[in-house]
Amino acid sequence: MDIQSFIRSDFGLKPVRVEVVLVPGLSQIQILGMADPVIKESSRRILSALRHQGFRLPPGKQVLVNLQPNYVRKHSQGLDFAIAVGILLETKQIEMPLLKSEKVFYYGGLDLKGEVIVPEDMGLLNFENFSAQVMTGHSGQSYPFNVLECKDLATLSEATIKAAQPQLFTCQPTRVSAQVQFDSMMARLISLVALGEHPLLIAGAAGCGKTTLVEHLATLLSPPSHTTFMEAKKIWRLLGRDLKQRPILAPHHSITPMAMIGGGAHLQPGEISLAHGGVLILDELLEFHPQIQSALREPMEKGWIYLSRAGRRHSFPADSLFLATTNLCPCGSFQPGSIKPCRCSSLKLRNYVERLSGPFLDRFAIFHIYQKPKQSHLVSVDEIQKRLQKIRGFQEEKRQQKVANQKLGVAQLMTQLDAKVHLDLLPHSRSHRRRQSLLRVARSLADMDFSLKIKQKHLEEAQEWTARDIYRIERFSQDDFAAR
Ligand SMILES: [Zn+2]
Repeated sequence: MDIQSFIRSDFGLKPVRVEVVLVPGLSQIQILGMADPVIKESSRRILSALRHQGFRLPPGKQVLVNLQPNYVRKHSQGLDFAIAVGILLETKQIEMPLLKSEKVFYYGGLDLKGEVIVPEDMGLLNFENFSAQVMTGHSGQSYPFNVLECKDLATLSEATIKAAQPQLFTCQPTRVSAQVQFDSMMARLISLVALGEHPLLIAGAAGCGKTTLVEHLATLLSPPSHTTFMEAKKIWRLLGRDLKQRPILAPHHSITPMAMIGGGAHLQPGEISLAHGGVLILDELLEFHPQIQSALREPMEKGWIYLSRAGRRHSFPADSLFLATTNLCPCGSFQPGSIKPCRCSSLKLRNYVERLSGPFLDRFAIFHIYQKPKQSHLVSVDEIQKRLQKIRGFQEEKRQQKVANQKLGVAQLMTQLDAKVHLDLLPHSRSHRRRQSLLRVARSLADMDFSLKIKQKHLEEAQEWTARDIYRIERFSQDDFAAR
């Protein structure tokens, strides 16, 4: 007897064929096909469930259960029910043509008395155009495919159909604190990052307000696309949690590498993946475990995180906007050009700042050292939001913008340069990544000016945001320390 069920894959459920045969031997259930200990343990649970429901294994026969494909290691929360139904059909203790149909998948846990339990990860079944029916226990949920619900093994024939219901994945808007105010320079930075979704690292002395800035910035992004939000919901469901808004996560720097990156016996997503489609705030970036800092490179570049387990590579989506803050020295007081005393030795300071340089810093499109202006007018979050709405309207109508500027390629951006642009600005960018950031940020600045073409002034301002403070930080490590 062959029936269909599901096993967990990296990022969802995939079909598995459950073969059941009887061979001479002791009356017991043997499960083959690289099942994990949780599945293997189910044989005793299934025996108890069958007995409680008035069924028996045939005497002098052993039940062999094989999970196909054989060569894949398997984990599942819902094979108990499939194996039990396979046994009942093979031993002819139930006779129902419908149950043998290839169009029915069995997915459920069993308790010792034979009641069918809906697996926690049932919500991961979101195949587009999935035309089969899934038989499981009773739940209050609806799914985008037909479900046959039954109470226990003895009442399989009384299963009721719950018709498919299209799932609405509406992303509720994020709450914005409209009255909070920022100085005009920071308001421009907030608009720029919220609009283009450029990864940001903001540095400055402790207490200068950089954390407040990134927290408010995170609430001003445009909502994620339908597909991205659906993916994000699926990741949250792997942990049995529901997602209603664009995720904004701000893990503390003491978080373990596994909690941040993902992993574990059953390969759970980490915070990096839970922030997919949203924002990941990394307050005090340099205080995070070095393993986390190096693991951030891949998702920042590719939008995916790859994990190795038992000799195989697994992947999770991890495409979020990275907003990070850092002090410029361990005590948090150092600020270039400021006379405020810093308690750190030159060596400590040099080590700290040097950790900021190089390819790691290059992954943040914008690096900015915050300095409080002497005089500036204040702009409220409400004003920033209203202006962003206008610019987004321009992007949609005039530029038919589909993705954030941060996702645009160099070739595409080069075609949008104004004819009068002096291209000598570009070769000065020291790496391909910085040149890419320069053009992307310039694109956002042109949008903020309602300009279809990227002009010279946009490139010049983009140079300030993407490169100026990187040069400044490199200069400290050479000159400033020597002077201290
Ligand atoms: Zn210090």
